[in-house]
Amino acid sequence: MYHEDCIFCQIAQRKIPSEIIYEDDKLVAFKDIRPLAPVHLLVIPKSHLGSLNDVTPEHESLIGHLLGVIRRLAQEFGVAETGYRVVTNTGADGGQVVGHLHFHLLGGQALEARIG
Ligand code: AMP
Ligand code: ZN
Repeated sequence: MYHEDCIFCQIAQRKIPSEIIYEDDKLVAFKDIRPLAPVHLLVIPKSHLGSLNDVTPEHESLIGHLLGVIRRLAQEFGVAETGYRVVTNTGADGGQVVGHLHFHLLGGQALEARIG
């Protein structure tokens, strides 16, 4: 599903430019425009889901695939051994700003221990 007003739907459809580093029929991965670490990638489903709250059992294989892609990107970007963090901010209190489900992949430096 494509949401016209959604910036990540627009990125997935290449209607606005971004540094896309991986794409398949289900997912797109691109560089975060305001990186918080030397490696800061975003991985999203192409089809619009607002947040983790919209994920249902029918998305299980999609989410499994997405995590597998994140694991491969961590290797490709050289942080698999040094370590990395995967974050999905959900809703206002979770700090979610963009309303299209996305997974941050952060690494390349020692990240702060606190997550909350
Ligand atoms: P969140 O707070 O989890 O919703 O994070 C949204 C992330 O999307 C932030 O880290 C932003 O820097 C990033 N972002 C917003 N717009 C763009 C864009 N056009 N291209 C790449 N990253 C973006
Ligand atoms: Zn969207």
